[in-house]
Amino acid sequence: MAERRKLVAGNWKMNGLRTALLEVESMIAGARALGRVDLAICPPATLASQVGDVLQGSPIGLGGQDCHAKANGAFTGDVSAEMWADLGARFVIVGHSERRQHHGETDAIVAAKAAAVCRAGLIPIICVGESLAERDAGKTLAVIATQLAGSIPDEAGRADTVIAYEPVWAIGTGRTPTVAQVEEVHQAVGRALDARFGAAGLQIRVLYGGSVKPDNAAELMAVAGVDGALVGGASLKAADFLAIARACG
Ligand code: PEP
Repeated sequence: MAERRKLVAGNWKMNGLRTALLEVESMIAGARALGRVDLAICPPATLASQVGDVLQGSPIGLGGQDCHAKANGAFTGDVSAEMWADLGARFVIVGHSERRQHHGETDAIVAAKAAAVCRAGLIPIICVGESLAERDAGKTLAVIATQLAGSIPDEAGRADTVIAYEPVWAIGTGRTPTVAQVEEVHQAVGRALDARFGAAGLQIRVLYGGSVKPDNAAELMAVAGVDGALVGGASLKAADFLAIARACG
């Protein structure tokens, strides 16, 4: 089985003005010295074209934070996967907990978006994760299993698909699960992908996300079954983003 290269993807969320392009240039300069890790930045849609231009020919890929399931049409404010592809993006995040929570996105909606990403020839980063109440109730693995079954369309049963395990209570809070908790979920995700997609499932990278910082990245990235990180706040600064990438070994 081919080794899974680690991937560090930065999700800028609704952050970043044009001055952030300087940060992207610093990221590129630092990324050239990193060999064994894939990198991506998912800027807000307003910056995507300019960030894409700056990233041209660099080791950092461009990603979108969300997309509509349809290719085009009367959907004010939305961006389609085909539009991300047209911009030169390689990845699109779907099912982020902030989309599920604030925009009412169900597993079925997430699956339709992930299918759209595949249709456009891009790589979906499909997010799953339990709430604190679900963890406290001992339901974590059941919740993750349901989200995986409902949010990954058959089209995404490909080796290059990416799953991000992001406990909702760890996002933007500075709290992280223990190494044992991360390992338990990643092993369960790996088994579910193997059972459903066979050989392709074994190649699917499973990222950890939720308050990954330079000072905890080495420990989290060393956990068995963790194939990289989806990084929010710490991806806004080149120094932090690169330190996390370096921690991937
Ligand atoms: C995220 O939003 O995907 C995320 C992981 O955020 P943070 O790193 O800020 O917790």
